[in-house]
Amino acid sequence: MKVLKFGGTSVGSVQRIKEVAGLVSGAGKNIVVLSAMSGTTNALVEIAGYYNNRNPEGAREMISRLESQYMSRIAGLYETAEAAEKATEYVRGVFSTISSFGRDIFTQALEKVILAQGELISSFLMATYMEEKGISVALMPALSFMRIDRQGEPDLEYLRGKIREEMASWPDASLYITQGYICMNASDEVDNLGRGGSDYTACLIGAAVQAEEIQIWTDIDGMHDNDPRYVEDTSAVRHLHFDEAAELAYFGAKILHPTCIQPARFANVPVRILNTMDPSAPGTLIDNALDRGSIKAVAAKDSIAAIKIKSSRMLLAHGFLRKVFEIFESYCTPIDMICTSEVGVSMSIDDTRYLNEIVHDLKKYGTVSVDLDMCIICVAGDMDWTNVGFESRVMEALKGIPVRMVSYGGSNYNISILVRQEDKALALRELSRKLFRQ
Ligand code: ADP
Ligand code: ASP
Ligand code: MG
Repeated sequence: MKVLKFGGTSVGSVQRIKEVAGLVSGAGKNIVVLSAMSGTTNALVEIAGYYNNRNPEGAREMISRLESQYMSRIAGLYETAEAAEKATEYVRGVFSTISSFGRDIFTQALEKVILAQGELISSFLMATYMEEKGISVALMPALSFMRIDRQGEPDLEYLRGKIREEMASWPDASLYITQGYICMNASDEVDNLGRGGSDYTACLIGAAVQAEEIQIWTDIDGMHDNDPRYVEDTSAVRHLHFDEAAELAYFGAKILHPTCIQPARFANVPVRILNTMDPSAPGTLIDNALDRGSIKAVAAKDSIAAIKIKSSRMLLAHGFLRKVFEIFESYCTPIDMICTSEVGVSMSIDDTRYLNEIVHDLKKYGTVSVDLDMCIICVAGDMDWTNVGFESRVMEALKGIPVRMVSYGGSNYNISILVRQEDKALALRELSRKLFRQ
């Protein structure tokens, strides 16, 4: 059994829905995970924004625009009146529910309900389309098996048990369809796995059912060696180690959700990134094998803050770093990069919600300074320290760019460099030139 996830663009039009249906039917009793049609989640975020700003009029206007967009999609998708009516009724129900939220106090829980509708609609439209074509699909509600705990971490045990139960209740299905991104939380409310979270759903399910493979179908022919939004002439990387892919995803390669590789790696289920627009292209295979001696790809993550604490008295005294880390921990803020010296320690964070509080608390231990709007550039590959020359090639590429921090040796798979966000595009281009084009 495989898990096949299709992203927003892959199901972004009537034509694409039909193509995906063709791709998945007859390909085996697999689990198909769908994103919302592209643009939908953004529109839903906007609708919730209007409600949050106590502007139900604005919300209603967007709702009716989105609803009519779906109505014309329904008109183009189905051949039988029966299927079209079934889809129409479902979609009308969704939008009338969302419209009703303007009447009462708008809560975060309602916002999450709104955000969940994109995946619920796309999966319903797809399942109804496939049924119309005579395929016996099981539309499995992700809300019945995908759950996060109080810390926002997915509950894998629960998923393992519940998804098997759910699958067993559809003995005649020739394939399963479910929603990416959405889940329940510890308070039994609808929630989600964060933007781009459908990749995470697919990998969690793949790990839970010990799938043969997890396929991430998207709008590009695999993980490229640099961010195609900033660098021209990037090329697809054919193979990555789980750890290389995890570093790239975490440090900004938008093609994968930041933490989606972890469950696949733990369960040792290979992940393949494939192109819906070019299904026969080889894509990228991610597994446990390492290609020795090569630098694979570069990614970048924005909106990073670098925090420096200087304390000549006690920096390297034992217990000092623990106290510093405890401050970050008390605000549930993970540290991405860290560099130490005799007189100071610098750390970078991307979650800056509690920056002021963290800085305030750190001042107990030394002089604190902050650099905002920074960017982590991650170079991933076989960075075993005994390979000579990789670091120097990276630093040579960045010789004209001010570098705030460098982290090397933390794992065998990456070098991270912190630069100003305004230098990101140049840094990415120079790295491409030096690492992949010479
Ligand atoms: P989906 O909707 O299928 O989840 P996403 O938009 O989330 O697709 O991810 C695919 C996009 O990721 C690509 O179109 C590309 O612009 C962007 N991207 C960023 N970095 C990379 C990379 N290293 N390789 C490939 N695509 C990348
Ligand atoms: N629809 C969600 C988003 O746009 C989840 C996803 O597409 O992966 O973020
Ligand atoms: Mg995505």
